[in-house]
Amino acid sequence: MIKVSGCCDGCGKEAHRRNIREFFNIRLDRFGKVSEFDFCPDCMCELAELPGLMDDKIKELLKRHGR
Ligand SMILES: [Zn+2]
Repeated sequence: MIKVSGCCDGCGKEAHRRNIREFFNIRLDRFGKVSEFDFCPDCMCELAELPGLMDDKIKELLKRHGR
């Protein structure tokens, strides 16, 4: 199920009809609060290389991109 808000939450790259299938939607359940993120393939590669739990990875990625 693809449910992308329109752009990458990491680098801000826009999702178009042509590339939207390549975007990934990640749901995080943190302390009972669900956060959703959309990431482009580049940011998914970056995420995969970051250490730690998914929560830490996403925080670090957003920081790197100044978000
Ligand atoms: Zn991105």
